[in-house]
Amino acid sequence: MTARILVVDDIPANVKLLEARLLAEYFDVLTAENGYECLDICARAPVDVILLDIMMPGMDGFEVCERLKANPKTAHIPVVMVTALDQPADRVRGLRAGADDFLTKPVNDMQLMARVKSLVRLKMLSDELRLRAETARTIGIDASAPREDEPANILLVDGRANSQERIARALRPVADVTAMSDPQAAIFEAAEGSYDLIIVNSNFDDYDPLRLCSQLRSLERSRFIPVLLVVDQGGEGMVARALELGINDYILRPIDPNELLVRCLTQVRRKRYNDRLRDSVHQTIELAVTDPLTGLNNRRYLDKHLKMLFDRAVARGRPLSVCITDIDRFKSVNDTYGHDAGDEVLKEFAARIRSTVRGADLACRFGGEEFVVVMPDTLPETAAAVAERLRFVVENQPFVLRQSGTALTVTASLGIASTIHGVASVEELIRQADRALYEAKHGGRNRVVAAAA
Ligand code: GH3
Ligand code: MG
Ligand code: MG
Repeated sequence: MTARILVVDDIPANVKLLEARLLAEYFDVLTAENGYECLDICARAPVDVILLDIMMPGMDGFEVCERLKANPKTAHIPVVMVTALDQPADRVRGLRAGADDFLTKPVNDMQLMARVKSLVRLKMLSDELRLRAETARTIGIDASAPREDEPANILLVDGRANSQERIARALRPVADVTAMSDPQAAIFEAAEGSYDLIIVNSNFDDYDPLRLCSQLRSLERSRFIPVLLVVDQGGEGMVARALELGINDYILRPIDPNELLVRCLTQVRRKRYNDRLRDSVHQTIELAVTDPLTGLNNRRYLDKHLKMLFDRAVARGRPLSVCITDIDRFKSVNDTYGHDAGDEVLKEFAARIRSTVRGADLACRFGGEEFVVVMPDTLPETAAAVAERLRFVVENQPFVLRQSGTALTVTASLGIASTIHGVASVEELIRQADRALYEAKHGGRNRVVAAAA
């Protein structure tokens, strides 16, 4: 994992120390000796994680952090505050400024690496998602609508009733907390429910909290839910291992309620942001291959997928047939009843195709009022029978327009072609089916024609 880390500290010896440790792990390291220089570097070069000193002359770390987080260009860069201060109040102040984490001087080597690596991993993921969401936005999907006000759904796994009570009370203003004391049952609950955050309190009498963390990370259903671990002072060894397992944050006992609250909100905010990005990426993929009017796959999808099906059929020596169908005199539907009525007919036509072909067949809107059905493992005779059935279900039942109730008789012409006639390519196969369709039109429409052997 290679990443660029920016170290900001006004004392050169501190910079040198962190730089040496990071270089030893093959990170790419940049350095700055004050806040202005830090902001300047971030504006010019891509940075993956910032290690930021708090006490600096001029602009202190809190302000640098606030400025970074206020600028949309740098808001996503994780900031770790490196501080000699270890007062809960300062941590809370840092978290409010938008810091993602803290390290206390002198910096423990293992913690430094665990934190940096886990933040880099997280950053890579959201960079990837951001990039794709960027594409989504350019084709008109909004990935930015915030849903911040909904109360967070938090699962608290805690072996003791009194600490369950204390944590739930601290979070009550912002979250619905479900508390459980049995870690195994909690894993099921996490997978079944829809949680924004899981808090694991490492106070079980006979259960290893790291096992719980690792299971939550490896299960498909809980993999994207952030985990916050509560550990005793001096439990840094456990923290380092938990971070390696992929937990997102930790807090030391005794718990400062303010710090707990802010840390939880940070995790929930980040989770919801990533969820939105992920949703919009899925949506983009769907949109890219789906025809919005009919819900069938579109031509782009057909081109990709047909090539694959064709190659597979050739490799296995199996037949593959395609049917191209075009609605007869469709222009007159538009001209007589209007474009919306035309759209309605297209939708109903697509629905009839879908209900007529097998699950293994691929039905696509080829464009306009033309559709293609790809039939894997299908001989030309069978394809001809399917096409005839399709022709029949279109002609047999009138298309009723919703608004006017007008019943239209619609017919279609169909052309089929098959690979068994020694067709060399996908393009050739489509060309043959298209030629057959042309013949069907010329022969008087409302009929099926198979490409000549
Ligand atoms: P033929 O029997 O020879 O196929 O005659 P046709 O009228 O169906 O063929 P033509 O290609 O002349 O006209 C196709 C029409 O389909 C013209 C076009 O406006 C219409 N069309 C294409 N896409 C859509 C659409 O998404 N919605 C609607 N309502 N009409 C569409
Ligand atoms: Mg037509
Ligand atoms: Mg046409």
